[in-house]
Amino acid sequence: MTVEYPKPLPQLTDDNGPYLEGLRERELRLQRCGACGRYRYPPARFCPHCLSEEASWEVASGRGTLYSFIVVHQLYHPGFRDDIPYNVAIVELDEGPRITSNVVGCENRDLKIGMRLVAEYFDATPEATILKFRPA
Ligand SMILES: [Zn+2]
Repeated sequence: MTVEYPKPLPQLTDDNGPYLEGLRERELRLQRCGACGRYRYPPARFCPHCLSEEASWEVASGRGTLYSFIVVHQLYHPGFRDDIPYNVAIVELDEGPRITSNVVGCENRDLKIGMRLVAEYFDATPEATILKFRPA
């Protein structure tokens, strides 16, 4: 059975399988460098800080702060017609990496840089869960 979902969905790559699987299981999983210990996002084969290929997957706290955001008023994709105006947010995770997402459960006018956020897991389809954030 095909599930109709009008918006783009995350695509499986060589590097992001554990990340996407984690979202389905309500966990935010990040790669952590085995050499320098820093977390990274997006998933990649090499550490962007020290270029080591050693890494493990760890469950992150799912907590962070609003680093930046915009409010989109223009329709760029027909799947978002009913969402305008919607926010696109950069969330700085407590573990360090910044991740692009949306803040839900909050009016756009109430978004404030530095506000505390917590992960929210949105099941777009039975196979695809999307990471969003809500005020903590
Ligand atoms: Zn490293």
